[in-house]
Amino acid sequence: MASAGGSLMDVLCEVYECSVNATRPSRTPAEVARAIVSGVRAHETAGPHGNETDASCLALTLIGRMVARATAPAAHGRVAGFYRDAVEVLLQDLDVVSQMGVVSPAWHQTCQRALLSSPAGPELDSVLWSLTRVLQKLLQDNRQEPVRMLLMAFDTSVSASTSRFLPADRSPLGAPDTSCLLLDLLELLTASGSAAPAGTRGPKLTYIHAAALIAAVSRAPHYFVSKRAALLLKRAALRKAGEDWLGASGENAASDASDIGVLAAAVSDALAAGWLTSVRVESARFFGGTSAARGGPGDSVMLRALGLLVIKSVQHRVVSAAAGAAEAGGHLGSLWRFLRQKGVRPTDTDHDCGVLPLLFSEQDDDMMEAAKAALVIFLHLRDDWRQDDSAPVRASCVAGCNPHCHFLFLLGAVSADHRILLDFLISTETCFLDYLVRYLRYLRTDRRGFAASCRRLDAGGRSLAPSGGCRLVDYDDSDEEASGDSPGSERLRSNAGASDDTLGRALGCLVRLRRMLARLQNKNLFPYKADSLLKLLTQVIQLLNAD
Ligand SMILES: [Zn+2]
Repeated sequence: MASAGGSLMDVLCEVYECSVNATRPSRTPAEVARAIVSGVRAHETAGPHGNETDASCLALTLIGRMVARATAPAAHGRVAGFYRDAVEVLLQDLDVVSQMGVVSPAWHQTCQRALLSSPAGPELDSVLWSLTRVLQKLLQDNRQEPVRMLLMAFDTSVSASTSRFLPADRSPLGAPDTSCLLLDLLELLTASGSAAPAGTRGPKLTYIHAAALIAAVSRAPHYFVSKRAALLLKRAALRKAGEDWLGASGENAASDASDIGVLAAAVSDALAAGWLTSVRVESARFFGGTSAARGGPGDSVMLRALGLLVIKSVQHRVVSAAAGAAEAGGHLGSLWRFLRQKGVRPTDTDHDCGVLPLLFSEQDDDMMEAAKAALVIFLHLRDDWRQDDSAPVRASCVAGCNPHCHFLFLLGAVSADHRILLDFLISTETCFLDYLVRYLRYLRTDRRGFAASCRRLDAGGRSLAPSGGCRLVDYDDSDEEASGDSPGSERLRSNAGASDDTLGRALGCLVRLRRMLARLQNKNLFPYKADSLLKLLTQVIQLLNAD
């Protein structure tokens, strides 16, 4: 129990005092880290003097304070560096998270007390932090049974704490550090659903408190709390909570359609009440200035989170028949207006289909999610749009949701390079395969609509190859195998070699994609069976080649 230079309690008390005064303890970061781990485990050897449990509680508090010192936005200099080093030793060399055990009685008691009654501040912060870290470690190691025990042990207290800090009357969140730590815990709880025993509320808390979280996006006094809440809501809408903490691990098992329905309804209510007009978006920061100074868009991470939250919510409302064309069109219209106000302005000023591809042009996985959601919305509403207008495609351009325009903008974003599309098809990080199959099935039925979108992009001065180089002409296909040729490709080359309009370039890209895909499949070099995709590509190419 004794540590170099004094008893364990003396060492812990000195470090606590230094952390309060923002000074540097007299010991090295490694000595401080070792003393804290001894403190965390002290309650296991409770002796006659009875201060072992105090040592455990103090050690847990210190972990939270040191993390706060090391990660504070203004943390710099030797003191912050000391705490960063000590936290690194704690997490990496000493693996303090697994030393905490799962539900040791002292830890459980300390956490319960803070969750139920502590005000926002260091004590509650350290408890939220330690719970989040333990949960993260257990989920990373896929230890389902301890996760289950943890969720059960803290279900009541975590639910009560969430209600205290995200009240139904939608007042803003309290202290910024406590707010962010609570949002981190909510995200990991949402990600932990597959291990959750029936009846536990932890994995549902983000959805239960969706309306309060949406209010926090516009009302939290600190921008980084607003942004943290927006990111949590976006990942909850995508059922991808925890992806930054745990790596890509598929969809969150516990989030079912009714959870997403609650979230989508809360988003819809907020949009109807003009929520987006009250959301603050800071300028993106660069060395030497901000994007606003350069006339560019605001914080793109925030804008993409809000964009996906809205579009996924509209998708859910439309698919579940909770909303029709009027509500969807209204919500999407308010999203496009908001994004344009924040600097996402496509060159074709009256064409809202360009807003979404421009917003997501630097984030492939989000772009695919957004394009897929827009496609699903269109497929569900095209009959309604046809009633309003004889041409559903024109009406969907008004709603900024024409799938042909989105597909063509997507091709433009990758300079119509079929090799990039092939990378997307192989990648497990995007839903491109799912999106492409759905889109090609629709394209097979609507050649005229596709041609109309191509003409619209040509008239708007958009090109699929921003460099101006025509890839159909540049493309060296001397190594192509005759057997890999798709129907009509010879004719395409002779026709499209002279045509660098949007339709010609798009068709050329699809032809090359089909050819390379067939070649890889023939050599067993493609990671999955692509027969149905190849068949679809063949049908679409034949259709687009037919005059
Ligand atoms: Zn359009």
